Amino acid sequence: SLVSVDDNDAKLVGRPPVVTVMGHVDHGKTSLLDALRSTDVAGGEAGGITQHIGAYQVTMATGAKITFIDTPGHAAFTEMRSRGAKVTDIVVLVVAADDSVMPQTIEAISHAKAAGVPMIVAINKVDKPGANPSKVKTELLQHEVVVEEMGGDVQAVEVSAKQRTGLTELEEAILLQSEVLDLKANPERVADGVVVEARMEKGRGPVATVLVQRGTLRTGDIFVTGPEWGRVRALIDDHGNRVAEAIPGMPVEVNGLNGVPSAGDDFVVVENEAKAREVSDFRQRRIRETQAAAMKKSALENMFSQSGDLKELPIVIKGDVQGSVEALIGTLQKLGNEEVSVRVLHSGVGGINESDVTLARASNALIIGFNVRANQQAREQSRRDNVDIRYYSIIYDVADDIKKMLSGMLSPEVREKFLGYAEIRDVFTISGNKIAGCMVTEGIVKRGAGVRLLRDNVVIHSGELSTLRRFKDEVKEVREGYECGMSFAKYNDIQSGDVIECFENEEIAVEL
Ligand code: GDP
Repeated sequence: SLVSVDDNDAKLVGRPPVVTVMGHVDHGKTSLLDALRSTDVAGGEAGGITQHIGAYQVTMATGAKITFIDTPGHAAFTEMRSRGAKVTDIVVLVVAADDSVMPQTIEAISHAKAAGVPMIVAINKVDKPGANPSKVKTELLQHEVVVEEMGGDVQAVEVSAKQRTGLTELEEAILLQSEVLDLKANPERVADGVVVEARMEKGRGPVATVLVQRGTLRTGDIFVTGPEWGRVRALIDDHGNRVAEAIPGMPVEVNGLNGVPSAGDDFVVVENEAKAREVSDFRQRRIRETQAAAMKKSALENMFSQSGDLKELPIVIKGDVQGSVEALIGTLQKLGNEEVSVRVLHSGVGGINESDVTLARASNALIIGFNVRANQQAREQSRRDNVDIRYYSIIYDVADDIKKMLSGMLSPEVREKFLGYAEIRDVFTISGNKIAGCMVTEGIVKRGAGVRLLRDNVVIHSGELSTLRRFKDEVKEVREGYECGMSFAKYNDIQSGDVIECFENEEIAVEL
């Protein structure tokens, strides 16, 4: 460890809670963050301009303080968590009272639960005519978020970010939750914290917003952050003022870095420049090594080795209909024994998206797509982050594979070989048959191979590629970047925008 001074119990004092706001798009996360910021009494006195540095602190009339992370949404939250940073103490889940629980609300709940962070529900837009707070509370029940009124322990507060009502109540709820968590830090030790935001700025060089978690950060301190190091040249607070020091819970912009770290990187003060260089060199070397190692290792092996004596196999499930998702969860949960079990982090209906991949990465989880596929961004992200996505269409096959994983057989056999994707750009009718005018967007497509037709990333048909043409000629295969015409055995319900997934069974692959 870089830290030589231990936290002395006697030196621990209360620190402000750090809050992240999450919820469905347009439910008012940004508006609520702006409204909460306006309640800051310290900001009023200074009359200063508000600086958007990625986090800000509100001082209430009572003197109590709350720190808000100013980048709403679970992407940032989980991205930081996947780098090992524990930043957020409390999640405020924003649900619009006129729109109630929506897909990203459910995603946010899954992200907060996976991180083990307590939630407070802010029922927003209560000023709107169609507002129905009770409906929100009832719907949350279905996702195991039980508000106090319904006998649970989750606080719910009705607010209007627009009319700025309920804000004090929300802040009091946050402080109450914070008391339960008993958040403490020792301000007298050397500082450490987490990078919330970092960028290269013209004329200033690399700048990072650091949330101090322990100790006191001062101008002149030498630090390491991620693979970079530096000396604090200036500290700037969320009102744009230069400050001499920052205590736990305080976000500050730091000048004087030698490079740009990433959000979620640690930030640790060390005794001297030699030590800083040594640690920074070591980390840069290690990054190169792990990058090389990761390329050799499968995602699945990583999952098991990193958790050591694995007790749970974390899984994210996406399916085409609610019924099959529920059936899958039921089946998988029965597979466990005293030593290992399946833990479903998140489940839902629809294609696999970036949020699913981010969540799986942070929790080292496997993603199961049941009659659904990942969208392009999610596919790219999963490749980059080494997240394992597996597709199925038969519940028995999922159960069989998971059973093998649980019993230590690390790589269940691959049942089919993925060949490629093509996108339907146009549909023609020739002598009563529908022909799809396609562009091969990835890999290769082959005549006679298995195909699945995807509409909005959901499988709507499985069959065989019966004809494949380039211009007028019948061809055996077409590669990425080329156009072709396709038709499918006994199937005609195709439209432009559909995606064709092409695969072959392993037996076929062996024969070839
Ligand atoms: P975000 O996508 O969750 O960050 O949502 P925004 O904060 O951008 O808000 C989405 C829309 O809802 C905007 O048009 C806001 O003006 C509106 N809005 C946000 N909060 C309220 C509220 O309390 N009442 C009403 N009536 N509208 C709101």
